[in-house]
Parts: sequence; structure tokens; C-alpha cells
Amino acid sequence: MEEIAIVNMIIGISLFLIFNIAAFVSVFEHEKKAALRFFVISWLLLALFTFSYFIEFNLSIIISGTLLIVTIHFFALIIIPYKGKFPELNDMPFIQHDERDTMFSRKELKPDSDRYNKYYSENPDKKKPDDKFRTKPGLLSPKAPIYDPVIFASSEASFYTVAAFKDFVDGEINSVKTNIDNKSISNYIKNWGKKLGAIDLGFTTLKSYHIYSVKGRGEKYGNSIINNHKYAIAFTVEMDKFNVDTAPDAPEVFESAQQYLRAGTVAVQIAKFIRELGYSAKAHIDGNYDLICPLVARDAGLGEIGRMGLLMTPKLGPRVRIAVITTDIPLVTGIRKIDHSLLHFCKICKKCAESCPGKAIPFENRQNIDGTHRWKINSESCYTYWCTVGTDCGKCIKVCPYAHPDNLLHNIVRKGIKNNLIFRHLALHLDNFFYGKNPVKNKFPKWMKIKYD
Ligand code: SF4
Ligand code: SF4
Repeated sequence: MEEIAIVNMIIGISLFLIFNIAAFVSVFEHEKKAALRFFVISWLLLALFTFSYFIEFNLSIIISGTLLIVTIHFFALIIIPYKGKFPELNDMPFIQHDERDTMFSRKELKPDSDRYNKYYSENPDKKKPDDKFRTKPGLLSPKAPIYDPVIFASSEASFYTVAAFKDFVDGEINSVKTNIDNKSISNYIKNWGKKLGAIDLGFTTLKSYHIYSVKGRGEKYGNSIINNHKYAIAFTVEMDKFNVDTAPDAPEVFESAQQYLRAGTVAVQIAKFIRELGYSAKAHIDGNYDLICPLVARDAGLGEIGRMGLLMTPKLGPRVRIAVITTDIPLVTGIRKIDHSLLHFCKICKKCAESCPGKAIPFENRQNIDGTHRWKINSESCYTYWCTVGTDCGKCIKVCPYAHPDNLLHNIVRKGIKNNLIFRHLALHLDNFFYGKNPVKNKFPKWMKIKYD
């Protein structure tokens, strides 16, 4: 009996420590609500086990036995594979998209210009929603309700700098070609890319549906896009969690712009490196895309396209920015393995749709759109919200359960989500309980708080 009581105490102290560690991790992550809840649960558990030590033996066994069974089942759900069966729905596009239809192209149309008149005479259905966003203050506008002169100017500076790379995305190719083994150069690019700041890199063969049919931005507006490269290198860079958690406030757009610049720098550098080896290469970076980066990144094995229409990576969810390099240097490409666990989690989750202030994210399952099963956001509503607040919002990224930091605590949960269909449902409830269904936004980081005279 005495031995069983001691075992009870050991179980109690172990659970107390586990919840306390989770609480400290949450404090470190600035997740106040989660920290408080983990602390309270840890002390309640300790109190319960201490109490059970002094009460009638049978009752003590029932309490500790129940908690032990719950704990064992929790970890069993994480470890035991039960992935579920999912129909193989086609998610490969059949058609090329025209870049002129993107919001980034449409926002550049100057009212009453030839380009503007031509576009809306060919696309009259887009005129009304576009007129709506044009009545709003606009992205990074001083008239925006959450305008912050310093943070908006920093963001503008990052966008300006990445835009200045436009003449460096492509260039002269060294006439002396270095013959290279595809395995070793693929490995080199992966490792070097990570040293330059990429979180993950992948290679794929370039498909026609990756590439826009017609250019929608810059001097080449309206030109057909020809890109004969055989391969694409896609990579992600991480967005700072604290800044993203201020969404839709100014530090969020500061972070977006900063990471577009970082991704752009790495892409331009790698493309130049490949050209130095005597192979053609072009960087596709913010404002200078020939292709749809999330699609390329998905086919390169970096994740899946989630409900919010962004690339969902297994370790950081949508909390990344992407850039791509297309090239003819020989690379080792893999075969895409669909991550059904991620798509299934998106199917049951809907947190982004529930918290989207622009009501732009669908609640339904993936739909067959032009023969491709996918989620399609209402980009007009999303962009109108951006123009209303003055930032690129990012609330969907902030609330996504996959966007938690890449650390042991969250990776245990990610492992369970990947492994077990039942755990996916449990993980969603736990995420809502500890972090909130619609988590509150962070205040500005201290160093960003500026006093204005
Ligand atoms: S919030 Fe949920 S539904 Fe939305 S992208 Fe993330 S996992 Fe998918
Ligand atoms: S960025 Fe904001 S408005 Fe756009 S889809 Fe995400 S949450 Fe909605």
C-alpha cells in the first residue's frame, strides 16, 4: 500500500512538472493565456495528488489511476498511427493563371488610364469590388486608422529595397560552364540556402501551371511569360512570431516586408551563384514573379496549400514567406507526397475562416474549381480589408494552430496531428482551450514603441 501511494506521488509530481514546463515555455512565447492555464492545471494536479495521499486508499487509487489512464491515452494517440483514408482528389491545376487578375496587379491600375479602361472592359465583373478597395485609405497609407509613421516607413523601406532588386533577378551567364554532379550541387544549395536564412528548401521540375500566362506588373505588363527553365528551387523564410501576433497592427506588415526582403536577397544571391557556374537562373521575388510561389513550393515538398490559400508548412504553418529560383542547373527533384494530415486538419479546423475580419476565407471543404480541388479565398474582400486598415492584416496566419514555434512542446502536438486522426480533433480543442479561438493580439514590441513630439 505504501509503495502504491509513493507511485501515486511520483505520477503527480511528473504531471506537475510537465504542465509547469509547458507553462514556462508559454511565458517565453508570450502566450499569457496558455501560461496561466498550464500553471493552474499543474497546481490543481499537485493538489489533487497530495490530497489523494491522505484520503481513503481506494479513492486515492481511483483518482491517480484515472489520471494515469488519461495521460497514457493522450500519448498513445500521439504515437499510434491512425492516419485515416482520404480520397485522392486532383489538386493539380490544368490552366495557367493570368497575373493581371491578381489584386497586386489590379491595385496598380490608374483610373482612366488605357490599361485601366482595357482591363475593366474585358473584366466588367471585377470593376465593382475594385472600386470598393479604391475608396479605402490603402496599404501603408497615412490615412489608415492604425497608421504608425515609423513602422510604416520601415515597412515601405523594406518593400522599396526588395523592389530595387528588379534589375538583378536575372543577368548574364558565365560563358564557362562548370560541369556539376546533380546530387552534390542540390545538397550544396540546400545547405547554403539554410546558412543564408532559409528554413527549408525543395526542388521540383517546373510545370506550365506554375507560371503565369501573362505578366501583370511592371514594364512588361501584358507580355506573355516565357520561362523555359527545367527546374525550380523553392524556399521559405520564417516570420517572427511576436510581430505576426500583433496582426493586423503595424508590426505585422513590418515583418511581412522584412521577410519579403530577406527571401528576395537569398533568391537573388543563389540565382547569381548559379549563373556564375554557367547555367541560366532567375529569381522570383516580391513584385517580380513569373510564377505562383505557393504552388511551386508545394510541388517542391515544402507543404500543402491550406484553407487560407497560403502554403502551410509542417513546422511553421503559414508563418513563412516564399521565394523561388528557376534554373536549368541539373537538380535532384523528389516526388511530391501529399500530406493528408495537414489537409485534413485544415478541413476540421476553420480557425482562420472564423477570425478573418474580411470574411474572405471559405468555411466549406475544398471545391472543384476549374477541375482542381482547392480552397479559394475571396481575394477582393481580403485586399479591401488590407486597404481599410493599412497593413497586410495577417490575422489568419496569427491564429493558425500550425503557426506556433518550432519547439519540442508544439512538435509533440504536430507529431500527433500527423500520426493520428483522433488526435487531430483533440489538438484543435486543446489549441482553442490554451490559446483561444480568436487569440488576442500582441502589443507592439517594446523597441518599436516610439514617442512622437
Ligand atoms: S487556421 Fe486552421 S483551417 Fe486555417 S489554415 Fe490554419 S490549420 Fe488550416
Ligand atoms: S489576411 Fe486578413 S483579411 Fe486576408 S484572408 Fe487573412 S485574415 Fe482574412
